[in-house]
Amino acid sequence: MGKVMVVGCGGVAGVAIHKICQNSDVFSELCIASRTVSKCDALKEKLQGKTKTKITTAQVDADDTAVLTALIRKEKPDVVLNLALPYQDLLIMEACLAAGVHYIDTANYEPEDTAKFEYKWQWEYRERFEKAGLTALLGSGFDPGVTNVFTAYALKHYFDEINYIDILDCNAGDNGYPFATNFNPEINIREVSAKGSYWENGRWVETEPMEIKRVYNFPEIGKKDMYLLHHEEIESLALNVPGIRRIRFFMTFGESYLNHLRCLEDVGMTSIEPVMYEGRPIVPLQFLKTLLPDPATLGPRTKGKTNIGCIFIGKKDGKEKKLYIYNTCDHQECYREVESQAVAYTTGVPAMIGAMLVMNGTWRKPGVYNMEEFDPDPFMDALNKWGLPWKISENPELVD
Ligand code: NDP
Repeated sequence: MGKVMVVGCGGVAGVAIHKICQNSDVFSELCIASRTVSKCDALKEKLQGKTKTKITTAQVDADDTAVLTALIRKEKPDVVLNLALPYQDLLIMEACLAAGVHYIDTANYEPEDTAKFEYKWQWEYRERFEKAGLTALLGSGFDPGVTNVFTAYALKHYFDEINYIDILDCNAGDNGYPFATNFNPEINIREVSAKGSYWENGRWVETEPMEIKRVYNFPEIGKKDMYLLHHEEIESLALNVPGIRRIRFFMTFGESYLNHLRCLEDVGMTSIEPVMYEGRPIVPLQFLKTLLPDPATLGPRTKGKTNIGCIFIGKKDGKEKKLYIYNTCDHQECYREVESQAVAYTTGVPAMIGAMLVMNGTWRKPGVYNMEEFDPDPFMDALNKWGLPWKISENPELVD
C-alpha cells in the first residue's frame, strides 16, 4: 500500500489514473498534479466513490522545479509517475531527487527547441539516483515500455541470443477525422516528421522520413502499410541485448494521414522554428496543435484495433528460432472501460504497472533503468491481469 503522485492529466494520465483507482489494494492514495487543475478535479469527481483510493488534486507547473519539489514534499508520495510531456522529464527527475522519491515516466527527454530524443540526458542521472538510493524507471509505456519487456521475456524464456528485432506498431483505428493524432499532436508530429533510423551491426543507419515502407499482415487486423521510424527503445535495446545485429521500428500510417502530413510539412506548419505573426513569435507546430482534435476526445469516435509487438530472430540450443509477441487492443472496449481510445490505454496501463512494481519493491534498484533491465515476468503477469493480454506466435510472417 502506498501513495503515487501523477504529474500531468492528459490522455495517457487519464487511463493510468483509472487503472490506479482499480488497483487500490496497491495504490491507497493518489495525488493528481497538473498545469490545468480543473482537469484533475473533473477526473477526481468522476472516480471518487467508485474506488477505495483516496484522491487529492493540485495545480503545478512542472517547469518550476522548486514549486514541484515543495509539492512532492508536502504530498509525500512513494513514487512520482510523470505523464506530462517529455520536455519536463529532467525537471521532474530533479524534483524527485530533491524530495527523495522514486521516478517513473513513459517517454524520454526531448529538448523543446530540437526535435531529437535520446536517453543520454536521463542516463547522466544514474549516479545521482544511485547515491540517493532511488529508482528511476524510464519509458514505462507500450513502445517504449512493453516492447522492452517483451524483449527481456523472449531472451529469458526462448532464446540464448537474439540477433534481429522488428518492433511493429499498428493502429488500425479509425476516428473519422481526415487528420488527427492519437497522442499529443506536437510530440507525435515531431516524431513522424523526423528522419528515420535503425540499428545495424553496431551503428545507426539514417533514412529520410518515411523512406522505408513495408506491408505487413497483422494478426486480428490484416494487411497494413507501415514505415520505418526512429524510436527510443532501439537505443537502450542495442546496449542491453547481447548478440544483437539489427533493430528496426515500424509504424502503420494510412494514406489520408500521410497526405495531410506532407501538405502541412510543405507549407511549413510542422516546423518548430518560431515565425513572426502579427508582431509576435509563434511556433507553427504549436499553432497547428491548437487546431487539431484533442487526442483525449477521440475515444468515443475511434473504432478498430491496435496491434503492437516484437518479432525476434535468434538462436536457441544452436538452432535458428523466431518468435512474435504482441498485444491487440480494441478501441471501443477501452472506451467502455476507461472512456479513452486504445493508444492512451496501451500507454496508461503499463505506466500504472511500472509505478506499481517500483512502489511495491519488485522493480526497485537505486539508479536509472530501462525496462529490459528488470525481471520481465512480474510485468508480463500484470499485463494479463490489468487489460493488455499478450500472445505468442512461434511461426510469424517476417518483415523483409
Ligand atoms: P497530453 O498532451 O494529452 O497530456 C499532457 C499533460 O501534461 C496535460 O495534462 C498537460 O497539462 C500536462 N502538462 C504539460 N506541461 C506541463 C507542465 N509544465 N506542468 C504540469 N503539467 C504539464 O499528452 P499524452 O497524455 O498524449 O502523453 C503523455 C506522455 O506520454 C507524453 O510524454 C508522451 O510522449 C507519452 N507517450 C508515451 C507512449 C509510449 O508508448 N511510451 C505513447 C504515447 C504517449 P494541460 O492539461 O494544462 O495541457
